[in-house]
Amino acid sequence: MEFSAISLEPVGRCPLCKVSERSLFEREAIPPKEIQLMRCDECDFIYTSAVVRADHIPRLYQAYNVTRDFERPDMREKRTLMYEIDGAYVRRFLGANDERLLDIGSGAGDFIAQFRGDFELHCVEADAAARAACVRACSSLLPYPDLKTIPHDIVFDAIVFRGTLQYMPDLHGVAAWCSDHLPAGGHLFVLATPNAESILAQLQRERWVLANKLEHRYWFTRRHLVQLFGDRFHLIACDFPYLGTPYENYSHDLRKVLAMIESPKARLEGVPFFGSMMNLVLEKI
Ligand SMILES: [Zn+2]
Repeated sequence: MEFSAISLEPVGRCPLCKVSERSLFEREAIPPKEIQLMRCDECDFIYTSAVVRADHIPRLYQAYNVTRDFERPDMREKRTLMYEIDGAYVRRFLGANDERLLDIGSGAGDFIAQFRGDFELHCVEADAAARAACVRACSSLLPYPDLKTIPHDIVFDAIVFRGTLQYMPDLHGVAAWCSDHLPAGGHLFVLATPNAESILAQLQRERWVLANKLEHRYWFTRRHLVQLFGDRFHLIACDFPYLGTPYENYSHDLRKVLAMIESPKARLEGVPFFGSMMNLVLEKI
C-alpha cells in the first residue's frame, strides 16, 4: 500500500490523561517521519504525534490480513499456535453461563473461530475482505465494520482485543463502550499487546520489533491500562507470554539482548523476549 494515499492528523495531547506537555521518546526519526513517538510528561504514556485520519482507516487495513499471510507463511503457523495458547488462556476465565463473545479487531476471524459451537460469536473488523473471510471461517460469526454498527442494547459476557487495542482511535470512548456492553462480572481481555515497560521497548524504542508508528497509536503498560479501565473494572490477571510460546528461543534471544545492552548497533535487530507481549484480564465491577 502507498503511504501517500493515507492522510494523517496531528495528536496534540496525551490520549490518556489529556496533558499536552511531552518529550520525544524515539532516538532516531525513521519513516514515516511525519509520525514521532512521544512520551507524556505527566503520566509517561507513549503515543504517536500523528495518526491516520479516521476516514482513511479502512484504506489502511484494506487487505491487510491477506497481505500479511501471503508475505510470511512461517509467521502464520506461529500465529496459529499462539491463537491456541491465548484461546486456552481466555477459557480459564470464562464461566459456565457465558454465552456471547465479541472480538474487536478480529482480522480474518482465526482467533475467535476457535470458540465456535460453544458461544454466540460477534466480531468487529474494519477491513471488508477480512469480514468476508470471518464468515467463511465460521458461518455463524456476526461481523460488524465498527462499534457504532453493533446494536445498542446488546450485552456481551466477554470482550476480547487481541493485539488490537493499540490500533483504536478514541481510547476513552472505547473503554466506556466496553463498560456499557459488559454486565457486572463480565470479562475484558487485552491480549498480545506490546508492553512499553519491557526491556526491549525501553532499550530499542523506535527499533523495537513491536514498534509500528503507522498502526500502533499507543504503547501500553499494565499501569496505563488500569488507568484507562480502572474505575469500572478490576484487574484480575496479567501475564507476559514468552516461555512456552512458538516465539521462545531463550539462549539465542538472551545473547541478542545482552549484545544490545553492550552496543547500540546491535539494537537494530528484532527479537522476541520476556515482557515484550502482555495479556491482561479485567472484570467489570
Ligand atoms: Zn498522559
